[in-house]
Amino acid sequence: MNRNIIIIGEHHEGTISPGTLELLDFSRALGSPFPEIILLGSDIFSLAENLAERTGCAVTLINGEHLNLYSAELYQKALLEVLRPRDERTLCIAFSHTSLGFDLAPALAHALQAPCISSVEDIEESSFVRSIFGGKLQSVVTPQNGPVVLTVLPGAFSPDRTPPEKSGHMRIVDVSVAPVSMIPQGERASEYRDSGLHDADVIVSAGRGIGKKENLSLISALASLFPRSALGASRAVCDLGWMEYRHQIGTTGQTVSPKLYIACGISGAIQHTSGMKNAQTIIAINSDPNAAIFSVSHYAIVEDLLSFIPVLMEEYTHPPG
Ligand SMILES: Cc1cc2nc3c(=O)[nH]c(=O)nc-3n(C[C@H](O)[C@H](O)[C@H](O)COP(=O)(O)OP(=O)(O)OC[C@H]3O[C@@H](n4cnc5c(N)ncnc54)[C@H](O)[C@@H]3O)c2cc1C
Repeated sequence: MNRNIIIIGEHHEGTISPGTLELLDFSRALGSPFPEIILLGSDIFSLAENLAERTGCAVTLINGEHLNLYSAELYQKALLEVLRPRDERTLCIAFSHTSLGFDLAPALAHALQAPCISSVEDIEESSFVRSIFGGKLQSVVTPQNGPVVLTVLPGAFSPDRTPPEKSGHMRIVDVSVAPVSMIPQGERASEYRDSGLHDADVIVSAGRGIGKKENLSLISALASLFPRSALGASRAVCDLGWMEYRHQIGTTGQTVSPKLYIACGISGAIQHTSGMKNAQTIIAINSDPNAAIFSVSHYAIVEDLLSFIPVLMEEYTHPPG
């Protein structure tokens, strides 16, 4: 079945998000190099026009007074106004797996009575590949005929694109949706304090496998052996309140590519590895020989980190002989 691929684009402060550009590569891999892109916003005409120029794709701008801030309720209503008149059976609607994507995609899928396939990271013919059980297994999902809504993992496809021969067409659809049950109050930048992750040559990251917050001192001690080092964390560690979110690496955290990345007690869920797999050298310390982190590591150390790291530090600071 030939599906009509529609990308729901994202933008922030006048810039198209890299995830939106990655969706173009995803669409190309499905055999549709010039999908339609839908942008939602308020008076973002030049951004939409520029996107059509640089991608060669048809861009539909859904323009509405209240669409300047994201709200699942409003965005869903506005999208349905544009999508409903189409032949819904052929629609393949792709979001990036961002906080907007994983909020809105299931709601839209429900409204369209479509399956929602989340965190897609690869394509096999007309099926979609996603990781399950913390990255230990992959599931291959083939949607039935009819509409399908997907979220695609950031980092799984390339944001690079050769400039098109001709510009795509841009059209504007004005909508008058207004908030009813949820009224967005505005956005506030989080209090950002630099974690030093982007300038670091060496990142030592802690996962839940460190056992308790107090054991972070061991991870810090290991990091302090290297000049230009910084501390990273898995989301589990941040969710537990052991480290601040500014240290989180992965899909919903930072993407890093240091010279050396040492993962301590991190299982290697795709949401984590998507943020660090491009490090030049990856060393993983994990007591489980089947941990998924080992599939992206150059060196795999199957040990209890609490006993291994002190030995490693001793050897590093006082090498034998
Ligand atoms: C929408 C969404 C977005 C997400 N975004 C992110 C993200 O940006 N970043 C991120 O990291 N996660 C993210 N996650 C969470 C992710 O799926 C995993 O749950 C998380 O990465 C797991 O963290 P962990 O590896 O520290 O913990 P666990 O999965 O619990 O793994 C702990 C590991 O430590 C090992 N271990 C235990 N004890 C020891 C020991 N003594 N010595 C050595 N090894 C030991 C275990 O074998 C295990 O492999 C996201 C999830 C969702 C749904």
